Amino acid sequence: MDAVVALCKRRGLIFPASEIYGGIANTYDYGHYGVLLKKNVVDAWWKAMIQERDDVVALDSAIIQHPRTWEASGHLAGFTDPLVDCKTCGQRFRADHLQELACGRKPSKHPGETDECDLTEAREFNLMFETTIGPVQEAGSTVYLRPETAQGIFLDFKTTLQYARRKPPFGIAQVGKSFRNEITPGNFIFRTLEFEQMEMEFFVPPDEAPRWYDYWRQARLDWYVRLGIDRERLRLRDHDADELSHYSSATADVEYLYPIGWSELEGIANRGDFDLTQHANHSGEKLEYFDPNTKERYIPHVIEPAAGVGRTMLALLCDAYDEDEIGGERRTVLRLHPTVAPVKVAVLPLLRKDGHPERAREIYEELRSHVSAEYDEGGHIGKRYRRQDEIGTPLAVTIDHQTLEDGTVTLRDRDTLAQDRVPAGELVARVNAAVR
Ligand code: ATP
Repeated sequence: MDAVVALCKRRGLIFPASEIYGGIANTYDYGHYGVLLKKNVVDAWWKAMIQERDDVVALDSAIIQHPRTWEASGHLAGFTDPLVDCKTCGQRFRADHLQELACGRKPSKHPGETDECDLTEAREFNLMFETTIGPVQEAGSTVYLRPETAQGIFLDFKTTLQYARRKPPFGIAQVGKSFRNEITPGNFIFRTLEFEQMEMEFFVPPDEAPRWYDYWRQARLDWYVRLGIDRERLRLRDHDADELSHYSSATADVEYLYPIGWSELEGIANRGDFDLTQHANHSGEKLEYFDPNTKERYIPHVIEPAAGVGRTMLALLCDAYDEDEIGGERRTVLRLHPTVAPVKVAVLPLLRKDGHPERAREIYEELRSHVSAEYDEGGHIGKRYRRQDEIGTPLAVTIDHQTLEDGTVTLRDRDTLAQDRVPAGELVARVNAAVR
């Protein structure tokens, strides 16, 4: 994990937020290549949910919803972690994570284990961030930053049903920021205060729910394999009955073998009719489907695949991180799948003179009208290759003396290190074939 964190910082993918003020716990900023990687992950999700299907529509609902939303969903009463305070050191700990936490005193022990530790009884602490609407805090002005994107989808179920001309089974998909006041140490971007979720609520006739649950369990696991993650480091773990949320009859996690061990990447839950029933009861609106053919009226059941953008990125980065040796020199390389690689091809003139930069720029201009490309003429060619290897660029084109004589360039493969001589006119086709 340390090596991945260091690489992300060195190459400006992801780094601590508010660093000039000493940072802020569990909060990170994404730099240029991090933004491109993130965008590619989100695009791949939209592609799988919308472009490749006819039964899912998109939504972008508000982060701040009517506060009764969270009463109905159960978050106000139940979205809590048990916390203890240490009266000696003033720190706060998750009561159910004490064995994984350090108390901060020397020699380092778990909270409660040193003689001076003085822990309070555990209290339930709500993870939702509260804020107020309007200039003064008064009754009725308290609102919450959403802790999940899902509830916005349930609130818009009726509207979507009306305009989208869909009937169950159909889904509503959404990507956006969610916020949780997490106090457990985050393990880099695994657990952060604000994070992007990719959630889809799939509304089905009640008797079809078990079948669709099985379908989405498998489909979501397969999606990570398509992004290039090693199948051996992915697994589906079914929740035991005592782990299930109150609303769920079945839940499975897609887990990845992170450096911190097997941990949740995505949850797939059979939520039954809990959410629509709750919101119908609290709002007084009928949230059901009327089938004009059978004249049947029912509350659809919901299958929810809920993924995290940050956790997907962390899995991709950990999975792709590699170190090897070229000609006796150590190399760090991100073996990212071309679909998610921030830059698909780098264009590098061998020399900064003799017409190399001019020809390289022409080739770069052509390539970047097709794919995400980068031009780099600064420094020794070996160093420039290393830089591209570290951000996971699958291909590099080098322009040299021979290019000016016979019109060929070298095309270098990040993983095999093969350098093929290719006519410049074939580059677009070659690059497109390799990165699509
Ligand atoms: P955990 O048990 O690890 O806290 P969760 O079961 O509460 O996660 P869900 O509510 O199912 O998580 O949220 C769906 C997805 O959102 C998770 O699988 C994860 O990818 C992502 N996610 C949830 N909380 C965070 C967080 N604090 N930081 C980053 N991603 C998160």
